[in-house]
Amino acid sequence: MTRRALITGITGQDGAYLAQWLLAKGYQVFGLARQTSHQGLLDHRLGWLGIQDKVAILPGDLVDLASLMEAMEIARPDEIYNLAAQSSVSLSWQQPFITGQVTGLGVANMLQAAKLVAPRARFYQGSSSEIFGAAEPGAHDETTRPHPRSPYAAAKLYAHWMTVVYRESFGMHASSGILFNHESPLRSLDFVTRKVTDSAARIKLGLARELRLGNVESRRDWGHARDYVQAMWLMLQQDQPDDYVIATGRSVSVRDMCKIAFDCVGLRLEDHLVIDPELWRPAEVDELVGDASKARRILGWAPTVTLEEMIQEMVEADLARLRS
Ligand code: NDP
Ligand code: GDP
Repeated sequence: MTRRALITGITGQDGAYLAQWLLAKGYQVFGLARQTSHQGLLDHRLGWLGIQDKVAILPGDLVDLASLMEAMEIARPDEIYNLAAQSSVSLSWQQPFITGQVTGLGVANMLQAAKLVAPRARFYQGSSSEIFGAAEPGAHDETTRPHPRSPYAAAKLYAHWMTVVYRESFGMHASSGILFNHESPLRSLDFVTRKVTDSAARIKLGLARELRLGNVESRRDWGHARDYVQAMWLMLQQDQPDDYVIATGRSVSVRDMCKIAFDCVGLRLEDHLVIDPELWRPAEVDELVGDASKARRILGWAPTVTLEEMIQEMVEADLARLRS
């Protein structure tokens, strides 16, 4: 029997790669998209992967319970992947309420809709390493005590615990993937890696002269989205639902990540980087590095793409986009 999956946030980076992965596995894929999602976005990411005609798009919004229930009634999913969110940390200080509504309460809506309409579906929640924020230094795993540092992180922590609450209260097969930063050529320009690879490509082609950034001393554990969506799928293939940290275990500063990108195009970062205090955040997460031993042990998951390989892929994709 063909398995059926419903993905919220299918117009986003992870939604697109996950749809591609599930289609390759023979799933029938349904994607929830806001009415405001314009065709351009669908074409952009799903089109880039050549799968825009292979997924069924259903209208819905995480803040509208009825639309989620209706989407689940139509999709009759075996697996639900909740990837929709207001996903930008920096925007979350400007829009704390919307962030709480979508990234936090929206997940309560999703869990409630699943409980009412698709209680036997396996449920994946897209949690984030941002919940660790200012936690004790060192590599974070599933036992690390969270300390959110932004409205986004606070909303994600609520959503994470709601997933646990629904699992423990109603016996739902609900798992939370605590994913560290993951990037790709499909990453939005709001995030630092893609901003950097796009700028490196623009400067190389003579379309720009400088790269303006905020704090370049913070450190992140960056993996490739293609690897990370496989971990989501693996979580839902387990007999027991659980929570897993997904990370590479390597932390690199924003500055060193920039150097990798500028090396790819044969330019010197020092000649183009401008530090702009306006881009500093009200509170920073100085370092995020994850320990994915549990995922390795139980899911058999391990990252396959290095940061250097990923940045190279992103720079090449940005050069190709800009040339065309
Ligand atoms: P993106 O920002 O690329 O995608 C977010 C998606 O959510 C888009 O499809 C967007 O739709 C949709 N969305 C936003 N608001 C709503 C709403 N009210 N109702 C329905 N859909 C909505 O994120 P990623 O693909 O990078 O991330 C996927 C998930 O994983 C997110 O929850 C994110 O917070 C989380 N995460 C991501 C990490 C990363 O490094 N990428 C790390 C850890 C967690 P639209 O096209 O209409 O805007
Ligand atoms: P985050 O870890 O989810 O917040 O992912 P981002 O890619 O948005 O940010 C990663 C780090 O890059 C953070 O420490 C930011 O403060 C830092 N950073 C420095 N300059 C910028 C910038 O111009 N844009 C973004 N998005 N981040 C920046």
